[in-house]
Amino acid sequence: MSEATTPTHDSLDTPLARAAALPLPAADALAGRFPLTPNPHAATSAERDRALRDLHFGSAFTDHMAHARWTRGAGWGDYGVVPFGDLSLSPGAAVLHYGQEVFEGIKAYRHEDGSVWTFRPRYNAARLAASARRLALPELDQEDFVASLVDLVRADAAWVPSGEGESLYLRPFAFASEAFLGVHPAGVVDYYVIASPAGAYFTHGLEPISIWVTTEYHRAGRGGTGAAKTGGNYASSLLPQSLAADQGCDQVCFLDDVTQRNLEELGGMNIMVVDADGTVRTPRLTGTILEGSTRSAIIRLLTDAGRTVVEETISLKGLLEGIGSGRVTEVFACGTAAVVVPLGRLKGEGFDVGIDGNEVTHQIHDHLTGIQYGRREDPHHWMYRLA
Ligand SMILES: *Cc1c(COP(=O)(O)O)cnc(C)c1O
Repeated sequence: MSEATTPTHDSLDTPLARAAALPLPAADALAGRFPLTPNPHAATSAERDRALRDLHFGSAFTDHMAHARWTRGAGWGDYGVVPFGDLSLSPGAAVLHYGQEVFEGIKAYRHEDGSVWTFRPRYNAARLAASARRLALPELDQEDFVASLVDLVRADAAWVPSGEGESLYLRPFAFASEAFLGVHPAGVVDYYVIASPAGAYFTHGLEPISIWVTTEYHRAGRGGTGAAKTGGNYASSLLPQSLAADQGCDQVCFLDDVTQRNLEELGGMNIMVVDADGTVRTPRLTGTILEGSTRSAIIRLLTDAGRTVVEETISLKGLLEGIGSGRVTEVFACGTAAVVVPLGRLKGEGFDVGIDGNEVTHQIHDHLTGIQYGRREDPHHWMYRLA
């Protein structure tokens, strides 16, 4: 047993979790903050139906996008939902040189009665604000963030698919658009939300993925930007991700940069370990791990169900021993895009092990998606009606 097995439920009481629990005005009260300029070249219903019949992730976009601009002195303004289209940006825009950018990922789900809902939008609003602080970008008001989702989804409601596991993926992002090569926090910042209809991540049930554990690269370092959702973290994970692919693996898993021994997360998903005794463990938030909304919700649901959930330091060595001895029965990754993904194989320098179990992984997947699609009770009022 490691030294850090004290049960804690820190993730139920972080600033993000507390912000997510604050009440929000109903969507009707927020609607209209981003007034609509309709797209004169919107897709015809035949074109849209064709796009919705052949869903991939992140390649098709809806007719509109939400936008706001911040300027030093004047603050946020220019709110609107405008036709989706190419941006016009100076080649001197700071984001192109220094990567001053933050983003979010959140989905809109169509329920059986046709209504459209999203999951804990305040969580993402608070996280975008926290990421913005770390990247020296201005914070958008959290209700304005939610209003941007409401107005965009209402404009493009016909783009929310209704098939099993399908959703409209929403991508809010903000970046330094000021044309200035000096290194300073930008004086002009643009915020957008674009939307992309997304198919079910898995078409034949939950398919286990294989993981390459890199000891060569790290995702984040102490005091760095690991806890912020910023494009740079993804840029730095692309090379290790392609080395993982060279090893025949689907995804890369990173270890901490100090001891180089402890599990942190995948490039874009948190990880959880299920023990034979039913305990679920996940790496604690150390400042280098992105605090996932899915992670937080899963900890809550498992705790509600009477399971012990432990946030602790999980060493790679301990995990491999646990898998070998049978103490560890399942490992899964979680995030908004894929929800829950079983990890079926862990490979790295000197090891290559399989993991067979997936019972708890399936349970948690079905429970969470059941809430998101309105098929299960939502005791924590996580769902927010957009349209
Ligand atoms: C977005 C993200 C996650 C998952 O967060 P969710 O809020 O659950 O979607 C996990 N890790 C990283 C690095 C991320 O960028």
